[in-house]
Amino acid sequence: MSNAQWEYENQDFLRARYEDKKWYTVRKHVCLECGKEYYTICNFRKYCSDACCAEAERKRTEERKLAHHSEHICKVCGKIFSSKRTDAQYCSNGCRQKSYRAEKR
Ligand SMILES: [Zn+2]
Ligand SMILES: [Zn+2]
Repeated sequence: MSNAQWEYENQDFLRARYEDKKWYTVRKHVCLECGKEYYTICNFRKYCSDACCAEAERKRTEERKLAHHSEHICKVCGKIFSSKRTDAQYCSNGCRQKSYRAEKR
């Protein structure tokens, strides 16, 4: 069982430790996905459960799909990349600069 899984299943225990303030490493966080308060000893945890973590990940993927709807092929390295700009030609600033230098020569 992973630490995260253990925490999900022992919220009552963690809350008790948090409330009696003897176990200082327990923190109260608010889940970024469902807004529920939960207790954790992991400073960088963002979600109350694996389900919320998965849901947030799914939303991020959706948003990315919506935001970057157009796919382009980089003129310099040939990599497929997505950009909000419909006239994007380079996958990165590095490639843009390379192309700029090549043109100058
Ligand atoms: Zn949650
Ligand atoms: Zn490129």
